Amino acid sequence: MDSRRLELLRALDIDVWQRRDRQPPAMVEAAAEPAVVARTIVAPAPIAEPAVRAPERRVAQADIAPIADTSPAKPVPDVSGLGWDALNQAVSACTLCDLHKTRTRPVFGVGNRQAQWMIIGEAPGQDEDRQGEPFVGKAGQLLNAMLHAVGLAREEVFIANILKSRPPNNRDPRPEEVRVCMPYLYRQIELVNPRLILCVGRIAAQNLLNTTETIGRLRGRLHHLTTGRPMIVTYHPAYLLRSPAEKRKSWADLVLAMQTFERLGGVHA
Ligand code: URA
Repeated sequence: MDSRRLELLRALDIDVWQRRDRQPPAMVEAAAEPAVVARTIVAPAPIAEPAVRAPERRVAQADIAPIADTSPAKPVPDVSGLGWDALNQAVSACTLCDLHKTRTRPVFGVGNRQAQWMIIGEAPGQDEDRQGEPFVGKAGQLLNAMLHAVGLAREEVFIANILKSRPPNNRDPRPEEVRVCMPYLYRQIELVNPRLILCVGRIAAQNLLNTTETIGRLRGRLHHLTTGRPMIVTYHPAYLLRSPAEKRKSWADLVLAMQTFERLGGVHA
């Protein structure tokens, strides 16, 4: 096993049993080489990175707790053509959902604006809300380790969330919040123009792919947004902290992401 894979396994807390006189156990090697592309999903129009946004359509999210919101849908922000500074200002000034009332600060996103990899999570948590940066808490530390294991420094990638504001008590994002916030993310994807998206967690995956499929079914294969942009889904680092037994699958997803990136012509800096 090469040192990069070893590092990856260790970052994911996966015990590596290695005898000096033998190759590593077959199970570990099998996990390292997942079937590369099991199926390709092309997300339907309303939710994937849009060439043209569909402002009045609601996000399909059967898994998200329904809310009794009878108010008319707010228009989504038109951020087409905005550059980074204007987009950042638009996020800071946004009052299209109530989360701006309870958050400490918006969490715009961070990292290399010309990154080849973009990491997309769900929403800021308490630490992120305080610091104004995504993935800075414990889950963020694991994410950093996962990135490091595939040869990426946190500063090399661009990290953003579906929601730019923390939902109170870390509750799941509500459909209306997602609907009005996603245009900011789509514009970020356009601006960064990453070669590959690594989507962490069910909420981000379901919203980006406009599906209610489980994370267990979404992970481990290659997806595409409607623009054709490739995306790999894996478990959210916060979930991996609670369910360490799943780290092995996440490792396989990262290997798939690396393989996909290289197959797409990506070269690590
Ligand atoms: N979880 C997320 O999905 N995003 C963050 O920024 C932090 C925790």
